[in-house]
Amino acid sequence: MNAEAALPGAPFLARDLPGEGGRLRLEGHALADLAQRFGTPLFVYSRGAMRSALAAYQDALRGRAHLVCYAMKANSSLAVLQTFAQAGCGFDIVSGGELARVQAAGGDLSKVVFSGVGKTRAEMAQALRAGVRCFNVESEPELDTLNAVALDLGLRAPVSLRVNPDVDAGTHPYISTGLKGNKFGIAHADALAAYRHAASLPGLRVVGIDCHIGSQITQTGPYLDALDRLLDLVEAVEAAGIAIHHVDVGGGLGITYTDEQPPAAGLLVAELLHRLDARGHGHRELLFEPGRSLVGNAGVLLTEVLVLKPGHVEDGGKNFCIVDAAMNDMVRPAMYQAWMGIEPCEQRACPATTWDVVGPVCESGDWLGHDRSLAVAPGDVLALLSAGAYGMTMSSNYNTRPRAAEVMLDGAQVHLIRERESVAALFANERLTA
Ligand SMILES: *Cc1c(COP(=O)(O)O)cnc(C)c1O
Repeated sequence: MNAEAALPGAPFLARDLPGEGGRLRLEGHALADLAQRFGTPLFVYSRGAMRSALAAYQDALRGRAHLVCYAMKANSSLAVLQTFAQAGCGFDIVSGGELARVQAAGGDLSKVVFSGVGKTRAEMAQALRAGVRCFNVESEPELDTLNAVALDLGLRAPVSLRVNPDVDAGTHPYISTGLKGNKFGIAHADALAAYRHAASLPGLRVVGIDCHIGSQITQTGPYLDALDRLLDLVEAVEAAGIAIHHVDVGGGLGITYTDEQPPAAGLLVAELLHRLDARGHGHRELLFEPGRSLVGNAGVLLTEVLVLKPGHVEDGGKNFCIVDAAMNDMVRPAMYQAWMGIEPCEQRACPATTWDVVGPVCESGDWLGHDRSLAVAPGDVLALLSAGAYGMTMSSNYNTRPRAAEVMLDGAQVHLIRERESVAALFANERLTA
């Protein structure tokens, strides 16, 4: 396999041939040059990669009633939302803050679905006034609260019940949110009663059913199982005289970080449509809530090597490559023991050594990659790959570290879409006592 094909995010991410300098490029732009121009740590995204990831869903759904709602918690920067809004995409939100971002980015509020186990009354009212497409309701008490808020405003809230399909853990152990015993969704066994209750409340209007069974799923089987469970319920609920318009199968499709081979979105969609048709539900509108699979492989996090700290490897020590990005910029390795690719932006002639790539934060858990073979020197720029999802949105200011800047590449254009945070901004809201 050549180096280019091995990069997750190809064809947008590619490396020049060694004879041509071996520079790493995203959407044609040399990443080392962007690091030089904008500083590090720096998130760089390819708009082309985001558009093509969305198109993979939309193309497979063409000719069918459908809506793709980008699960924006994966990356909610305004220019990212703008990219999807311009392509006709809706949004899956989990807070009033995210709703405000959709508005600020020019998104279509009638294409917004509002998920989450703990919506406040204020958030419900905000979303009702904004005219969102539907509330994905996760409990019976939430139905009652939403009904009361809607009646107060003289409105009716469109609702879909998030059902926990309890797909077989033995078969699909990696599914983390669609099983009994987690906080998400209404148990499958309780769902018919919850629909009856919803239909009886004057402030609510039943419009759909949904589920979201987990994240970084790399097979289609769990989705088909979940869809079957949803359709069983749809049939039971409609037999009880309550119409259900749309079926929302959630998000969770995985991406390639290392050697994962998730199905293409088009294949997943085709299999789900086939199952809908086979069960006589082909007329239903199908909703998706992809997050990671739309943005994950579209972004990298650039970081500069600060210090090389060789260890006494023969005594079980480690070689540390200390970089200027840390767990506050990208928490996935520290939080989930996630493996993310690390590539030098320019290739060096020196021999490779095995390094633990770590940040400057005062925590032993502050690492980006363990045991990586890299030919590096201080001042080199490294790219953390597949950093477009759950990077910036999960970042923090731990150790009073300002958050990174973000750049969006769009063909020949380079847009700075978020300025680097200033240190002064970090404590601007704080007050000394008298
Ligand atoms: C997080 C989330 C998603 C998106 O998950 P990904 O794994 O990023 O695709 C979709 N729907 C809901 C309700 C979520 O909480």
